[in-house]
Amino acid sequence: MRDGRREGDAIHDVIVVGSGAGALTGALTAAADGLDTVVLERTALLGGTSAYSGAACWLPGTQVQQRADLGDSTEAARAYLRALVGDAGAKRREAFLRHAPELVARLEGDPAVEFEWRAFPDYVAAPGRMDAGRSVVPLDLPTDRLGDLLHLVRPAVDRDRSGQGHPDAPLTAGRALIGRLLLAATRTGNATVRTEHRVTGLLTEDGRVTGVEARTPHGTVTLRARFGVLLAAGGFEGDDALRAEHGVPGGAAWTMAPRATNTGDLLRAAVRIGAATELMDEAWWCPGTQRPDGTAAFTLGLRGGLVVDGSGRRFANESLPYDRMGRALAAADAPAHLVFDSREGGALPAITVPPADAAEHLAAGTWVRADSLPELARHIGVPADALADTVARFNGFAATGTDADHHRGEDPYDRFFADTRDAPGPNPCLVPLDRPPYYAARLVLADLGTKGGLRTDAHARVLGTDGGPVPGLYAAGNTSASFTGRVYPGPGVPIGTAMVFASLAVRHMAL
Ligand code: FAD
Repeated sequence: MRDGRREGDAIHDVIVVGSGAGALTGALTAAADGLDTVVLERTALLGGTSAYSGAACWLPGTQVQQRADLGDSTEAARAYLRALVGDAGAKRREAFLRHAPELVARLEGDPAVEFEWRAFPDYVAAPGRMDAGRSVVPLDLPTDRLGDLLHLVRPAVDRDRSGQGHPDAPLTAGRALIGRLLLAATRTGNATVRTEHRVTGLLTEDGRVTGVEARTPHGTVTLRARFGVLLAAGGFEGDDALRAEHGVPGGAAWTMAPRATNTGDLLRAAVRIGAATELMDEAWWCPGTQRPDGTAAFTLGLRGGLVVDGSGRRFANESLPYDRMGRALAAADAPAHLVFDSREGGALPAITVPPADAAEHLAAGTWVRADSLPELARHIGVPADALADTVARFNGFAATGTDADHHRGEDPYDRFFADTRDAPGPNPCLVPLDRPPYYAARLVLADLGTKGGLRTDAHARVLGTDGGPVPGLYAAGNTSASFTGRVYPGPGVPIGTAMVFASLAVRHMAL
């Protein structure tokens, strides 16, 4: 203790809580503006779910889309968002659309940050949609560019959750985004990173947020902020009590966020000082293949198979964008199964993150295999005649190329993942199930983070229950409620919006 302050206490211009893509964008822009900035991360590793991600950033109308000659524009993105969400949240939508191109230009002005456009269709058929997609991704980052910072970046989900992948491989996707932002922020000389600082409380003076209280392995410390505190510490997907309180289906065991990270600490802390919340029952949903350890693997991009509910019937177009398939799954009778045949040698005809090991699943009973459909139906507890009817009807659709029930294969998103080279019929999304043995993989409702949270305005200021801003307090990413409401417009909206609102937050702090 020095001068009444404990070891670890400090004063900075800006405090950023969390270390995902939004947090590090906020830290980088603040530090690049000359503000003394500290990043506080609960775990020993930086990046959170953002490090696990594909790092698609839905940032429309930027120089990256222009370089790719896509014909994307802010106007087209505005038309698309208006068609999907209406004018609720219009001020935040406009702030997002206006700032996205500026932000990308600014980030790419730093030699550490480079993006490119990558095809991945927008998720909903509506005016302004880009069928090939408009999201941008960071270029891979060689490990040596990061030097000593490398050990701070959270491993990819395949490695973190199931020990797969090589630790020395170049940083790709979410790790590349985190690595690049971290590199750029630390090179400013104005950003400090403190890991193992779990922020649990907000300090206030005369109604203004002036700092935070954080638990560290060495005790509790207080850090004060001259300009503001940005909360970008994920949602509350990892906390079953908060999920139950707000009616969020699924469960902490099935979320794709890293274990023991996003448990709503900052939501609780902000609510305690009068912050308002909205959209609290929402999440960025996805189907999950249940894994032998009880967790879930994000499942998307089906190349074959079909999905049945507890009655043995299909209930949706299985090729739907994952958030929409997740919503269909939430509404379906449990249990749901992805039923497939041996066309791919017993492998799941879908992408799973982390990848699935068929032998482990079969041994654990999370997948079952049978020589006939009636036997498979018995294993998964659905009526045998219903499953047989479902498969026969589906195989009929595969022969004609038309899914009269759920229209699978009619949308560019459906076809994006289909195996068009080896399609047995006229519609590559409708692949018959006719090669025994048959398999069924248990599906659960997983998520990529909760989507409701603190109410914010167009400057990312946290709003109080009285409707006015809480001075000194800002939020971005899944700590805040998304202006996109109950729709997931396209790949990269969680991260793209987190980055933009984090940057707007620090810009407002400095005014
Ligand atoms: P996070 O990135 O999870 O960061 C929160 C951080 O805050 C964590 O490091 C956590 O430890 C820390 N924290 C929590 N509590 C505290 C506390 N009390 N004190 C200090 N620190 C704390 N989205 C996209 O937009 N594009 C994609 O391509 C994409 N692909 C995905 C792929 C996968 C496999 C997964 C799992 C998700 C994907 N998502 C994608 C979703 C996206 O990654 C998340 O929704 C988003 O990254 C959440 O960002 P965040 O900043 O809110 O939280």
